[in-house]
Amino acid sequence: MPLNVMLMGPPGSGKGTQAVRIAKRYAIPHISTGDILREAVRSGTPLGREVAAIIARGSLVSDTLVADLVRERLAQPDAAAGWILDGFPRTVAQAEVLDDLVRGARLIVALIEVPDDEIVRRLGNRRVCTSCRLTQSVSALSEGQGESCPYCGGTLVRREDDNAETVRLRLKTYAQHAEPVIAFYRSRAGFLSIDGVQEPEEVTAELYTQMTRLLRT
Ligand code: AMP
Repeated sequence: MPLNVMLMGPPGSGKGTQAVRIAKRYAIPHISTGDILREAVRSGTPLGREVAAIIARGSLVSDTLVADLVRERLAQPDAAAGWILDGFPRTVAQAEVLDDLVRGARLIVALIEVPDDEIVRRLGNRRVCTSCRLTQSVSALSEGQGESCPYCGGTLVRREDDNAETVRLRLKTYAQHAEPVIAFYRSRAGFLSIDGVQEPEEVTAELYTQMTRLLRT
């Protein structure tokens, strides 16, 4: 039975960090729609330019576009044994597409809950490595380490949409769209809710405990 996992939570809740760990532990691909869209932006195609403007506004890319990207990605051979989705679905229309793609197989939905003031603080400190793509908080780096990645030595940069103004817009967008998506999943057997205001290792441990319990049923 494939292991299909979806992580939900506001920007900066730690979805990316946790998704990388789950992907490694269960040997399933980590699929981040944000990463796929940023890759399209880097490619500089007309579509990439359109997407860049939407991301810079803190708004959502169209459901059709994102659903097509996810449909294509989940059809790749490495996704046959399962996957972990990070950043999709963000709307009820996208959640309906996902139900269609999953076709009755088990779907674990884990919601990582973090209040807004903590998000604003975290995203101000967040940096992403341009080589290994791992996320790092600059406040957690030790003195003298500068802005190089503690995992691979690559260069750490601030994501363009992590500036204070865009963060506020992204949180507004999340508040508008997330509640109906959470309501869509909340009553299902595969729904988990995790307190995201803990050390990342504690969040991982809680996720594993709750997932293991679910996978036994
Ligand atoms: P993320 O890396 O998940 O924070 O995504 C960065 C940006 O990409 C978001 O602010 C949106 O503009 C866009 N995006 C990512 N995933 C989706 C999605 N599922 N639906 C619509 N837009 C998305």
